[in-house]
Amino acid sequence: MKTLLIVSILATFAGAGCGRNAEERRLQDFIDGHVAIVDPLTAKANLAYWDASTTGKQADYDKLSKLQLEIRRIYSDPEDFALLKEMKESGAVKDAELPRQLDKLYNAYLTNQIPPDLLERIVDADTKVQEKYNTYRGDIDGEKVTMSDIYTIMTTERQVRKRELAWRASKQVGDVIVADLIRLVKLRNQATKKIGFENYHTMSIVAGEQSIEQLDAIFAELDRLTDEPFAKLKRELDIVLGKSFGITPAELRPWHYHDPFFQRTPLVYKLDLDVYYKDKNVKELAEKYYASIGLPVDDILARSDLYDREGKYPHAFSTDIDRHGDVRILCNLQNTERWVETILHELGHAVYSKYHNPKEPWLLREPAHSFTTEGVALFFGRLSRNAAWMQQMLGLTDAQRAEIEEISFKYLQFQQILFVRWATVMYKFEKQLYADPDQDLNNLWWRLVEKYQLVKRPPGPVDAGWASKLHFTTAPCYYHNYMLGELFASQVHHYYVHNIMKLESDKLVSYANDKKLGKFLREKVFGPGAKYRWNKMIEQATGEALNPKYFVEQFVK
Ligand SMILES: [Zn+2]
Repeated sequence: MKTLLIVSILATFAGAGCGRNAEERRLQDFIDGHVAIVDPLTAKANLAYWDASTTGKQADYDKLSKLQLEIRRIYSDPEDFALLKEMKESGAVKDAELPRQLDKLYNAYLTNQIPPDLLERIVDADTKVQEKYNTYRGDIDGEKVTMSDIYTIMTTERQVRKRELAWRASKQVGDVIVADLIRLVKLRNQATKKIGFENYHTMSIVAGEQSIEQLDAIFAELDRLTDEPFAKLKRELDIVLGKSFGITPAELRPWHYHDPFFQRTPLVYKLDLDVYYKDKNVKELAEKYYASIGLPVDDILARSDLYDREGKYPHAFSTDIDRHGDVRILCNLQNTERWVETILHELGHAVYSKYHNPKEPWLLREPAHSFTTEGVALFFGRLSRNAAWMQQMLGLTDAQRAEIEEISFKYLQFQQILFVRWATVMYKFEKQLYADPDQDLNNLWWRLVEKYQLVKRPPGPVDAGWASKLHFTTAPCYYHNYMLGELFASQVHHYYVHNIMKLESDKLVSYANDKKLGKFLREKVFGPGAKYRWNKMIEQATGEALNPKYFVEQFVK
């Protein structure tokens, strides 16, 4: 019995880090040295980004790119990478939280192992595409138009010829940048072949701790579950749209839909929620809501930049400045439903960061994955058009709630199912783009659009309009994470409603004044940060790995 006792004491010590082997001690030393430099440096870079976004000053942008370069230089060090690779392959690092930190470090170095000359050519090609993109203006009958002109025409114009010209104008930039974009794709591939990956797409997925098989399976399942419901909704929409243009559904072309990529639900279902928000203080509403679920955000809001100003970044984001509690959001608030959604969304990211367990090592004080923080943000953002939430937070009558419910659900249902089909096109196309950049991409794009979005290609030869989707340049191989975020949001929703609230259905679930929700998220999702791989975190929080069926169940009724 005595021997057993000694063994268990030793085991306890080993868990606390005293019984580490040589490889583990070597890694801990590396981490200590690394974090001592990177912790203050990333905080400085995040602050520079904050300053640049809030002031729009060139000096702040210059400071930011200098700091980003400095960080990139650290992660591109080939000797450090070789050391980490050796440690990873040796399998000797087993002690408690060290393997996760090793994973995080390894992946950060992996994506930066590009020889300097090649990196320079990549940055150059990247900048060229973005410059051309930003300065190009499409034209309608020789007259230059902006993207917002195009959106206005596509949502309001009755004359079909003008719609067609606007739609074509939105795609013209594709042909202008496509050669540079293909060159960029090939350079990215070249860089990753050197470190043993078949192409850049595969490398990005693996470095993001995902696998092609896993993503293929998720998209195949989503396709199976949404194929028929989408076809049905699309048929209904085509009848409504056809009628509005005085044509048959078979005569509809891409320009009859209200978005250049048919990414958004056409505005044929009347939905105006702004009337409910126009007399409210959006900031106070969000503050009151988060306090009501036990996740107070007053400190976050006090550091944030919330209102429109000359020179300021016009959209919104959340940033964890230092992983030591300085979390902020940037918004340009107005009293509209869209901005209620946005502030709830950004604060979702912010509470995720704020409530990481500060005792976790610095390298793990991050979300489990970028899509899990996106999922939490979406979970809260969806509330701005949730009729039960609106009733609770805005003091509406039952009749008002019922009225909102009816239109809101129809709109949301179409939007979400359409998003599945659209994200599938993006995922499948990009995978093919990197597998073989020399194939007939223009036709590939339309084959996918016809198959998944059920939109007929325009008559005549097809152009490179697909390249006008800027994500291919600025956020390569990332789009699938928006879909995964939606799936995670729905899985949390399902689990919480059925297993914690113990309800049969989500009808009338408002998520307002529910302290248990905050507690659940803090304990199961926010606290652990990146301590577990994303699928393990999801399993521990909701009882199973990421499963697309809850998203479909929530929106296909
Ligand atoms: Zn987000």
